[in-house]
Amino acid sequence: MTDCLFCKMVSGEIKPDVVFEDDKVLAFRDINPQAPMHVLVVPKRHVANLNALDDAELGGYMLQTAAKVAGQLGYAETGYRSVFNCNDDGGQTVHHLHLHVLGGRRLTWPPG
Ligand code: AMP
Ligand code: ZN
Repeated sequence: MTDCLFCKMVSGEIKPDVVFEDDKVLAFRDINPQAPMHVLVVPKRHVANLNALDDAELGGYMLQTAAKVAGQLGYAETGYRSVFNCNDDGGQTVHHLHLHVLGGRRLTWPPG
């Protein structure tokens, strides 16, 4: 996808603040962090959102990556939240699947 922001990060055209990368996923810091840790985990291949995810293994891998990154950054014990926003009511603004990983402050529930 040539006009997709996160595909441009995967290709290296735009350089995010990367915290983890392998052949399947890229994890980088959110440009507008909502918590002391706010990382986005994205698949390297373009998937528009959770509705379009056709690969359970990839979804599980993204969740495992979220846990790994939270651990590496020191938030495994204090806790964190991982969330997929899907479409308008879910608050999705970038239409390339991404898993938010937020930690470092007490998060409220339910979300607003
Ligand atoms: P969502 O609203 O769930 O689609 O989340 C998209 C996220 O991407 C938001 O939290 C934005 O702050 C973040 N974002 C947008 N542009 C960039 C960028 N250039 N680098 C890092 N994060 C970004
Ligand atoms: Zn994309």
